Amino acid sequence: MEIQKKIQEIKDSIPKNVTLVAVSKTKPVADLQEAYDGGQRVFGENKIQEMVDKFDVLPKDIQWHMIGHLQSNKVKYMAHFVNLIHGVDKFKTLKEINKQAKKHDRIINCLLQAKIAKEETKFGLSFDEIERILQSSELATLENINIVGFMGMATFTDNQEQLQEEFLSLKDFFKNQQLKTETKNCTLETLSMGMSGDYNLAIKNGSTMIRVGSSIFGDRN
Ligand SMILES: *Cc1c(COP(=O)(O)O)cnc(C)c1O
Repeated sequence: MEIQKKIQEIKDSIPKNVTLVAVSKTKPVADLQEAYDGGQRVFGENKIQEMVDKFDVLPKDIQWHMIGHLQSNKVKYMAHFVNLIHGVDKFKTLKEINKQAKKHDRIINCLLQAKIAKEETKFGLSFDEIERILQSSELATLENINIVGFMGMATFTDNQEQLQEEFLSLKDFFKNQQLKTETKNCTLETLSMGMSGDYNLAIKNGSTMIRVGSSIFGDRN
């Protein structure tokens, strides 16, 4: 019941238009089932094999989000069911997602991952690189994907001003691209920012989708 209570507390504290992705990586199926029984339908995983294993045994109306860094050669394992892929940071990956989605006669929703953190280790595209992808004529030929927005991970820090600055920079860029982008398989409406430690600040700064793990399921080993 603890898991359901945590989810309810978070849902009660965030605006209705913000989607809560319950990040269940490393957690046992029983924990996801408990969340599901309390009404949660959107789950995030960062390893494809783990997500596939959970998909196989859990109810089929769950929306599975891949939030981890993506290897192109593994896209095929989730192409039949994944609902949203958050961490796309290469054009080549978009092409592979398109190819695999086509085999299943599906359109797969993707977020382009923007690099907003100052740290060296984080994956992601620069704003220039994102803009180039969105404007490229080749993108329009990928008929089995839909770019629905961007994803960003802020620096791992307690510095609220720095976090705010990073979130705001992505929000401004997002708003700008919403006005400019006319490619038909881009419907920019989702901004995935914010985790357990910073989701309130992310929402204040434009997030429409938060990815929360430890605040729901407890610490990971
Ligand atoms: C693990 C993970 C999260 C959730 O992190 P918590 O701090 O446990 O909420 C969010 N986003 C990504 C990309 C992750 O890998």
